[in-house]
Amino acid sequence: MNSSFPDASFCPLIYGPVLSRRHGRSLGINLGIPNQKVCTWGCIYCQCGMGERREIKPSERNVSAREIVSLIGITLKEDPKIDSITFAGNSEPTAHPDFFEIIQGILSLRKELQGEWIINCLTNGSELDRSQVIEACALLDDIWVKLDCGIDDLFQRFNRPLSRIGGLRGHVGRIKKLKDISIQTLVWRSDESPKLSNWTNENKRALLKLYSDLKPRKIHLTTIARDPAVSKLKAVPKTELLEFADQVKKLGLALEVFE
Ligand code: SF4
Repeated sequence: MNSSFPDASFCPLIYGPVLSRRHGRSLGINLGIPNQKVCTWGCIYCQCGMGERREIKPSERNVSAREIVSLIGITLKEDPKIDSITFAGNSEPTAHPDFFEIIQGILSLRKELQGEWIINCLTNGSELDRSQVIEACALLDDIWVKLDCGIDDLFQRFNRPLSRIGGLRGHVGRIKKLKDISIQTLVWRSDESPKLSNWTNENKRALLKLYSDLKPRKIHLTTIARDPAVSKLKAVPKTELLEFADQVKKLGLALEVFE
């Protein structure tokens, strides 16, 4: 995430602003534990390493929602020229028990500071069964839900959700709870271990089917750009990404490719 961090799993509460092709000059917010990656999924491509796949315990959270918003306010007063605030980092942002309050606090900050930046969140969607998370998502300008695998076996092996999250069917059902759907799909290949690749004709066909069903407002298609948790995974060449993008566009859907 940032080469100045001590290791891949480390991510402070507030980082950047970082220059992102997808989100402009963006202030990053990590609602996980700064020095340890703990997530409800365990994606094999995660740039924060394998870490631990579990829930974060309340005792591991030692900064209150009010303090988080106040720290973001201090940072924004020092450096207000940003395009976005992006919830991401080394955990699942919406799994924070006070996610709703934090979003409300940031909206108040934006009003107070007359900020023109947008608020967005990268999510695996694991908490979309909770009504307060859905309400919080409705307050965001953008929420990007992961959909890398259109086949349950690949979803289980590559995204590795906690057992309470269930399979792909449940994941798609949760995405449908959002009023305005934006999807982020990350694809990769592995010449060394082809069984570790999600860049297969079968998965591409399954993703196209799911996109048709979900009808997202936007799709961002990305590939491996930083060191993945499993080192055998490699980026998909741009020409192949663009070929797939053409197939998505034939469905009448908006897709952008980010290498
Ligand atoms: S959902 Fe995000 S943070 Fe969690 S394992 Fe996957 S890539 Fe890493």
